[in-house]
Amino acid sequence: MKYVNFEDTGDTISDEFFMKEALKEAHKALAGDEVPIGAVIVHGGRIIGRGHNLTERLNDVTAHAEMQAFTAAANYIGGKYLVGCTLYVTVEPCVMCAGAAYWTQISRIVFGAKDPKRGFSLFGSGLLHPKTTVINGILGEECAALVTSFFRNKRTE
Ligand SMILES: [Zn+2]
Repeated sequence: MKYVNFEDTGDTISDEFFMKEALKEAHKALAGDEVPIGAVIVHGGRIIGRGHNLTERLNDVTAHAEMQAFTAAANYIGGKYLVGCTLYVTVEPCVMCAGAAYWTQISRIVFGAKDPKRGFSLFGSGLLHPKTTVINGILGEECAALVTSFFRNKRTE
């Protein structure tokens, strides 16, 4: 587990720092020929859970980056609630992951790129816990480019 000397208070510098960590996870997915999406969960400036998309390797449509990170963070904490934590994820969560985020009661969600096809925001804001705040667009171009180039390469294979 990595420790950094600033809190995840929501300033742009720390949001970018942790989004870069989520991007590292996305690159792990890419190396496994998975749709390159990555996530980290942060509490008190410390990464307590990491995850990347594993739907191909696990043959499991629920193995999204966020789901892996929620499970890792809950294991780390020894409890299922993630109050006071921030989820950093490279692409907007889908409805399933937004629903899981609701159950964790996570305090913040920071995502990079919007997902215009499957993003939870298409379905309104009621999916999330009322105490969860959302920020988007952190390193959004970089996060989107990774996914776009993945699918472009798939088409030309
Ligand atoms: Zn999802």
